[in-house]
Amino acid sequence: MNICICGAAGRMGKRLIACAAEAENLNVAGAVDVPQCLLIGKDSGIASGIEKNNILITDDLESACAGADVVIDFALADGITDRLKIYEKEKVCAVFGTTAVDDQGKSAIEITSKNIPIIHAPNFSVGVNLLFALAKKSAKILDENYDIEIIEMHHHHKKDAPSGTAVRLVELVEEARGLEYEKKRIYGREGDTGTRPKGEIAVHSLRGGDVVGDHTVVFAADGERIELTHKASSRDTFAKGALRAAQFLAGKEPGIYTMKDVLGIE
Ligand code: NAD
Repeated sequence: MNICICGAAGRMGKRLIACAAEAENLNVAGAVDVPQCLLIGKDSGIASGIEKNNILITDDLESACAGADVVIDFALADGITDRLKIYEKEKVCAVFGTTAVDDQGKSAIEITSKNIPIIHAPNFSVGVNLLFALAKKSAKILDENYDIEIIEMHHHHKKDAPSGTAVRLVELVEEARGLEYEKKRIYGREGDTGTRPKGEIAVHSLRGGDVVGDHTVVFAADGERIELTHKASSRDTFAKGALRAAQFLAGKEPGIYTMKDVLGIE
């Protein structure tokens, strides 16, 4: 199966290229980044710290997608609508890992999925997708006496906050508690906040060092506290999950698919 990597010179792009080289039945047929990227014209295998693969990093997304079955897009959210137009035109399946996609970008994904199969997941690790299911189930079982706080930590290069994974976690616990999205949600605390209102859900973002991605959901009641934690120690966990999603998506009917579909999580 031929794949094209968009955002090829980035932290995730390089790990996708390296992990694809180790996978069976996967062939990197295109590698794309922005025109100002210093690695344009360089061999994408060497740029990713592996052997030469004879696929040069290009800024021509359209021709890079032409020979691909699936594009794996871990570029940044800016310009996502234009990239979707190219994926639709080239009829490639699209796996999106990009976070901080705005409402306009999300609706472009929805519309484009009428013509090509798409997965857009805030986190491709198997463990985090299990955390999603456990957090939702726990929020359903534990009543409003269990205060929910979500904490995430990432490396100091990360540009968006809170992480896409933390946003998905908060959406899932809101769903489980029958809350309207964002109604009782706050991001961090400062100053004279008063006592904690019942039902509030708080999200806290920590940044520092080379932390790949930690997420904890705390359920705290009088007398006990449950903490569900996932810690990613390598970007390969996201890369391998995205490659698995690409293999799942190839040949599917147009539509939106999720990591739950890929992993068979009920
Ligand atoms: P990064 O900044 O290291 O890499 C992004 C790359 O995309 C850069 O090389 C940049 O030049 C390139 N790029 C930006 N706009 C582009 C465009 N229009 N066309 C082609 N290339 C473009 O970032 P990263 O750490 O690799 O993360 C990339 C994205 O993936 C972020 O949104 C991050 O939050 C997300 N992410 C998702 C997961 C997941 O499992 N879903 C895991 C890790 C990171």
